[in-house]
Parts: sequence; C-alpha cells; structure tokens
Amino acid sequence: MPSGTIEIDSELCKDCQLCISVCPHRLIVTSDRLNQKGYRFAQFTEKTLKKESKKCTGCALCAIVCPEIAIEVYRG
Ligand code: SF4
Ligand code: SF4
Repeated sequence: MPSGTIEIDSELCKDCQLCISVCPHRLIVTSDRLNQKGYRFAQFTEKTLKKESKKCTGCALCAIVCPEIAIEVYRG
C-alpha cells in the first residue's frame, strides 16, 4: 500500500469541505478553530486517529478537488 501525507494551508481554506468528502479514508475533518478570514478550516487527522487502517495513501484526490489549491501532497 503506498503511503503519503498532506499539508493543508489553513489560511487558504474556505471550508467548502470538498476534500473531506473525497478522502477515501476520511482523514480530513473540519477544525473547531477559525482562520484569519473566519472559516473553519480543514484539518488532516491521521496523527490523531492513529489507526493502521486509516493511513493516507497519497492518492491526491483531496488536493485535486480543492478549489483554493490549499493542499500539498507528499508521497513516499
Ligand atoms: S492524499 Fe488521498 S488519502 Fe491522503 S488525505 Fe488526501 S484524499 Fe485522503
Ligand atoms: S477543499 Fe480546500 S478549501 Fe475546501 S475545505 Fe478542503 S482545504 Fe478547504
């Protein structure tokens, strides 16, 4: 199984939740906090979930769908 990780630029996020809906492993959630523009930004949760079955594969679906280009994907 390929592995990857992502970084979300919270200040670019506009809370459209598209990344949340496409992640096959449900690794992205909406934060309780707000960014400078007042949006509840998307947050990567792999480290907090710590479940073997819930690992980022670097599929990049989240980054492709993000209209704000707020997500960087790292593979390997
Ligand atoms: S790269 Fe794929 S598996 Fe990883 S967070 Fe994005 S949609 Fe989910
Ligand atoms: S797709 Fe982009 S703008 Fe939309 S919630 Fe995810 S990170 Fe934010």
